[in-house]
Amino acid sequence: MSFKTDIEIAREAKKRPIQEIGAKLSIGSDDLLPYGHDKAKVSQEFINSVQGNENGKLILVTAINPTPAGEGKTTTTVGLGDGLNAIGKKAAVCIREASLGPCFGMKGGAAGGGYAQVVPMEEMNLHFTGDFHAITSAHNLLSAMIDNHIYWGNELEIDERRVVWRRVLDMNDRALRDVVTSLGGVSNGFPRQTGFDITVASEVMAILCLATDLEDLQERLGSIIVAYTRARKPIYARDIKADGAMTVLLKDAMQPNIVQTLENNPAFVHGGPFANIAHGCNSVIATTTALKVADYVVTEAGFGADLGAEKFMNIKCRKANLAPDCVVLVATVRAMKMNGGVAKGDLGDENVDAVNEGCANLGRHIGNLKSFGVPVVVAINHFVSDTDAEVQAVKDYVETQGSEAILCTHWANGSKGTIELATRVAEIADSGVSQFAPLYRDDLSLFEKIETVAKRIYRADDVLADKKIRDQLKAWEDAGYGNLPVCMAKTQYSFSTDPNLRGAPVGHSMPVREVRLSAGAGFVVVICGEIMTMPGLPRTPSAEAIMLNDMGNIEGLF
Ligand code: ADP
Ligand code: MG
Repeated sequence: MSFKTDIEIAREAKKRPIQEIGAKLSIGSDDLLPYGHDKAKVSQEFINSVQGNENGKLILVTAINPTPAGEGKTTTTVGLGDGLNAIGKKAAVCIREASLGPCFGMKGGAAGGGYAQVVPMEEMNLHFTGDFHAITSAHNLLSAMIDNHIYWGNELEIDERRVVWRRVLDMNDRALRDVVTSLGGVSNGFPRQTGFDITVASEVMAILCLATDLEDLQERLGSIIVAYTRARKPIYARDIKADGAMTVLLKDAMQPNIVQTLENNPAFVHGGPFANIAHGCNSVIATTTALKVADYVVTEAGFGADLGAEKFMNIKCRKANLAPDCVVLVATVRAMKMNGGVAKGDLGDENVDAVNEGCANLGRHIGNLKSFGVPVVVAINHFVSDTDAEVQAVKDYVETQGSEAILCTHWANGSKGTIELATRVAEIADSGVSQFAPLYRDDLSLFEKIETVAKRIYRADDVLADKKIRDQLKAWEDAGYGNLPVCMAKTQYSFSTDPNLRGAPVGHSMPVREVRLSAGAGFVVVICGEIMTMPGLPRTPSAEAIMLNDMGNIEGLF
């Protein structure tokens, strides 16, 4: 059997003008700032005007520990949004914008897949409405102003060896990971070692995604720590006087973008922070706006539930006063098999035993999510290679966990494939059974917060951290940062810090390698294992296959 590619399906979409899509959420054309015919930003005035509305129901889509291919969270988010609309509900989806790095590397797109996509997918995966360019510019403006401050006499007494603010670029470019700047003589400043991160790893990205309005945005930008003095006193972006101009550059980027699904339903696509050193979900302003105008909002958190959902709940929901009414846990038979020890090359063969084995991973995620007080439904994202016996094995297992699993075929069938899931999710969300609470209190010490996540979510026996790390956490507590949540950065492939430990490992310890303070975003990043903030391209990058055809259409974009 051959299938159409994502881009072929997307190109056949019967798109409606963006004003019609906005009207579905009562956003008038005056409040839509169009970028072409099929994309728009929602005006700040409109956002202000709906603040008195009651909130709709919030549904989080998350997943088991993934296989390297991704398990279809975005695809399921879009499919469920369309399913809810198909059963007569007023629903919107909220997802992240795409980074150019993975687009030209290997990850694939960020618009969903098959018959559950948002369009225009080409633009969404490329420049879109320019938000990431604006974030890149704002970030690098601050970088330039820091070096300029040093050049013109360094009144703030910045220790050039302790400038912690790097530069960013929205590209996978390993050559820029470590660089020396200001070479070439006196007029170019003071040479120092620094480097580039990918734009989505910028603290400016995390800030844009957590800020509630422009005032909050500027306040947070000002609180970014950019460097230290020789006496280790922190220097903030506001000391460099960059926060005002950065806010100006980000003014439009702060407004959420609205596009449509293949079935012409509204989709907010806004922000895209890394899911490791940041919290990995779309912007607070998009989610809170969607909740004011739709009755059901379906949103996605990056990676598996141990990382993505944990941070969605403990960081985003805590900060934005959000509470999910239902969680959809995406599982695939393929990922169950991989968690059950099957190699990637053998995923095509039926193997019910491996599915049963791998279900331990699913079970632990169900238990973890329930510990937040939220009801969980498992969505089995159907792949054509799945056999009935394998699907039944997942369903049977989930029942033993006091939950339910629903087979979904949205990738092949669009909303027709999620009617059952949508009906059940709406029922659960409406029932009000959710009693959401974050996992830890603000006033717990930073180390206790790390321990809580490690023990209750990763089921580690203990946390291993040097005195140096514990002293650093203590110092931040003394400086007034003790009430911040922790942002865990570890492999997405395992509950543990070892990517090869699949399933539901026990008896492991969680080593903390490094801690970083993101004072503007408002969290402490806890790095457990190798974390790459500037990815490289693979041997054969997808960029090699991307081109314009004779008709002027883009080919090769997934
Ligand atoms: P995630 O959000 O979990 O990273 P995506 O939803 O972006 O995953 O999907 C990753 C890729 O997998 C996409 O290219 C999509 O087309 C593909 N995909 C998703 N679901 C299916 C499915 N049921 N059958 C085949 N391919 C799928
Ligand atoms: Mg995704």
